[in-house]
Amino acid sequence: MGRYFMEKAHRLPICTKYDIAVVGGGIAGVCAAIAAARRGKRVLLLERMFALGGLATLGLVTVYLPLCDGNGKQVSFGIAEELLKLSIQHGFEADNPYTWLKPGNGQHGKQRYQVRFNAQVFAVLMEELLEEAGADILYGTVVTNAVMEEGRLGGLIIENKSGRQFVEAASFVDASGDADVYQFAGAPTALYEKKNSLAAWYYATEDGRTSLHMLGAADVLPKDPNAEIPVRIASQRISGVDAWEISGQMREAHRHSLKAFLEKGGVSESHSLTTLAMLPQLRMTRRICGEYTLDETESHRFFEDSIGMIGDWRKCGPVFEIPLRTLYRADIPNLAAAGRCISVTDAMWDITRVIPACAVTGQAAGTAFALNETLTQLKAASVQEALKQDGVILHESKTI
Ligand SMILES: Cc1cc2nc3c(=O)[nH]c(=O)nc-3n(C[C@H](O)[C@H](O)[C@H](O)COP(=O)(O)OP(=O)(O)OC[C@H]3O[C@@H](n4cnc5c(N)ncnc54)[C@H](O)[C@@H]3O)c2cc1C
Repeated sequence: MGRYFMEKAHRLPICTKYDIAVVGGGIAGVCAAIAAARRGKRVLLLERMFALGGLATLGLVTVYLPLCDGNGKQVSFGIAEELLKLSIQHGFEADNPYTWLKPGNGQHGKQRYQVRFNAQVFAVLMEELLEEAGADILYGTVVTNAVMEEGRLGGLIIENKSGRQFVEAASFVDASGDADVYQFAGAPTALYEKKNSLAAWYYATEDGRTSLHMLGAADVLPKDPNAEIPVRIASQRISGVDAWEISGQMREAHRHSLKAFLEKGGVSESHSLTTLAMLPQLRMTRRICGEYTLDETESHRFFEDSIGMIGDWRKCGPVFEIPLRTLYRADIPNLAAAGRCISVTDAMWDITRVIPACAVTGQAAGTAFALNETLTQLKAASVQEALKQDGVILHESKTI
């Protein structure tokens, strides 16, 4: 039995009330905030770091995986496509996109609409996009608790340089990647059974060339024989929701990055360890148990309440429609999940955790709350109509 300290009750300043508060400024949170703000809602995005993009930028995961099914058919649209193009607005690091960006180029062959972007440039461009949309961003702010009031989420406790405050909103999006808000609200969540292997991606410059080094294995490796196969660098696996474990993993990642860099020589004018990941590179941690839990066996299945589609980054062919019901639980109807913590099985998680899928679910969550603050009162058809207006194609039967 652990020891406890009883905190005294104190009065917390209440922030201005927003229509929608989005927790987490990763790809999912950015898309949710943009979608809601563009529909005229007052949106506050809360992010514990000081830049946008989450794992995609601060975690150095600079590979925008495909928007297509691997057979030349694009399946993810809307803000997922807008962000992909934004990420390479000022150039790309690898995976030349110009073959499929050419106007009128209908023949994409097996090109997978994939690009490698510059993390810092992309982070700043996303910030500008959010500002243009009219959303407020509060950086350096950790959400530490959620307060339930009569079957709804009433507000969030936040901590930042100004101290502790209470954030009120009509509805909330949990884009924390770890379903933190659901956990704080006392809702059932699930952990990834196999836990996370260590990843230590870093950037280094050698002889004028800066490149990404991907240390640490993915759980399912790409079948492409030419792909750079990352090797496993640690045997221990961690859940990703224990602070001591995460700190230990970060230290180990730092050690591996430095060792790998030094094996190629010390620091010099032509050899530099350019960037270490500023977020723990955790793939699958905690997810919500929503109204529907999507499984990898449900490829090509029609869902009446689909909010968009994704491919399977690991292989050509599969296409998944994502039901709106994977984003929420009816017992907290003014809260939705977006990004890597939506309701899926362990097997499906490896498919929905990647950037395009996080963008698709983020846009849907923001759009849904722009239409109604209570998801159980909202007809899926209304969200779908709004998403279609914004360029999203919902069903596989509608793609060419
Ligand atoms: C090693 C590795 C390799 C990967 N490779 C690829 C790849 O090649 N291509 C690809 O598309 N995807 C890849 N992914 C997956 C992908 O990068 C992420 O899963 C995706 O970007 C997650 O987006 P998200 O917005 O759901 O969550 P995150 O990016 O995790 O964003 C969550 C945000 O919320 C903030 N936050 C969390 N908790 C709180 C809190 N309590 N209060 C305030 N803020 C909070 C975090 O700081 C973060 O900015 C990889 C992931 C890893 C770890």
